[in-house]
Amino acid sequence: MGHHLTVSGVAVDTRHYIDGERVSGRETFGIFSPIDQRDLGEISQGDAADCDRAVTAATRAFPSWAALGAEGRLPYLRRFAEEIGKRADDFCLAESNDAGVLLSRMQHGVVPRAMQNILFFAEAALTLQDKTINTKQAVHYVRHDPAGVAVIITPWNAPLMLSTWKIGPALAAGNTVIVKPPEWAPLTCSLLADAAEAAGLPPGVFNLVQGSGAVTGASLVSDPRVRRISFTGSVPTAKIIAEVAARNLVPCSLELGGKSPFIVLEDADLDAAAATGALMYRNATQVCLAGTRFLVHERVRDAFIEKMRAIVGELSIGDPREAATEVGPIIHPRQLERVKGYVDRAVAAGATVLWGGQAAPQGGLFFLPTMLTDVGEDAEIVREEVFGPVLVLQTFSDDEDAIRMANDSVYGLGGVCFGETEHAKSVAEHVRTGFIWVNSFGIRDLEAPFGGCRNSGIGREGGDWSFEFFSDIKDVILPT
Ligand code: NAD
Repeated sequence: MGHHLTVSGVAVDTRHYIDGERVSGRETFGIFSPIDQRDLGEISQGDAADCDRAVTAATRAFPSWAALGAEGRLPYLRRFAEEIGKRADDFCLAESNDAGVLLSRMQHGVVPRAMQNILFFAEAALTLQDKTINTKQAVHYVRHDPAGVAVIITPWNAPLMLSTWKIGPALAAGNTVIVKPPEWAPLTCSLLADAAEAAGLPPGVFNLVQGSGAVTGASLVSDPRVRRISFTGSVPTAKIIAEVAARNLVPCSLELGGKSPFIVLEDADLDAAAATGALMYRNATQVCLAGTRFLVHERVRDAFIEKMRAIVGELSIGDPREAATEVGPIIHPRQLERVKGYVDRAVAAGATVLWGGQAAPQGGLFFLPTMLTDVGEDAEIVREEVFGPVLVLQTFSDDEDAIRMANDSVYGLGGVCFGETEHAKSVAEHVRTGFIWVNSFGIRDLEAPFGGCRNSGIGREGGDWSFEFFSDIKDVILPT
């Protein structure tokens, strides 16, 4: 068992996966579970030689994978999705243990979605090649040529969902991939390598190098043979990656943080808004697309607060592996300290704690769902992403005010707007973010665009947008 660790009875290979083989790193790093901070074991740490080997393998595998065409790749990718399904329980338990994601969410949301991420793009790729533009003088056959080797880097809050969201379109479009999982939650990506192997993907098409961002990630993104970098994570890391990518002139897709508005208009269904508001605490609000800045019409403020307080008071906090749990742990002591720091500084600056504001009675890495109010528009807690269960509530007096406040952020990822349907839709249309849900939250369709404005990122993922990123678009021109 030297090359495996076991979580909740699931054996996970701790090595890299390069060129169709498991490869041990020369060094390792330890991981632990946020549920009880127990050690889970040691994971290979990728060094420059491991990264070089992975890029070499992916480069070598690229021409024949690309030459298969979308139809030729489809059976491989179908089997890949099936293999994920066969080990659904293992995926669920692994990520619940290393990232603290709710097991129920893994079972009903993430794992089916991971399979869909592979299958949807594999099938959608079939119809990509045959767009034509007819003009007076020519027929333009627009082709999506595969770009080459793609590096995929994801954060710890949703490793399986976000990795497959990138791996699916990258492979379907004919690229080969190197996945660099998040170092705090690396297990489900290792299970993905098992699934890729069981599906019979040719060696070098899917590679996995475990390790830290500063060493492994940095080494992969700086290799000039890499043709695409797809990154989801924080703004500071994105800036480093974008600089490196610029030096090699490599396109990068950046999906970053958010401080998304959750708008409650005067004519909103307050029960629905409050129930949806409470959902923001799922996974301890370690969710990029959560609405974390509540903007509530001043006339419904008190009623909304009372309704949401009642629902939040009933939330079940605890072990994410238990079916009834609705709020799990914060991923890491460092992240918990960050969250506490935001609350303490906000309170010191005069904020009122509506609920929560402190560690949960469970101890460990559990923090109470928190809502702060009485804050200035320029307060740190209004402007910065906490990435923990701390929300902030401000009031507005009319639509114009709500829209101005919603847009007053360096972030522009998502949003939520509750109100009478036409009214809420018209307000939502003025909010400058990549997406906004009207009287709802979390609806995702794989063909729809996903991504953010300003510091929330560059580029869009989903459907054609993913294919455009992972392809070199070519125009074959025939005169008429
Ligand atoms: P992070 O930026 O610290 O790390 C993300 C990944 O980048 C990790 O795999 C890390 O190892 C790697 N990395 C770090 N330094 C690197 C470097 N120099 N070169 C290459 N790779 C490097 O982010 P995090 O703390 O893991 O994740 C939380 C952030 O992710 C939050 O800001 C959150 O909002 C954001 N996020 C965004 C989305 C989205 O779709 N927009 C989704 C989930 C999370």
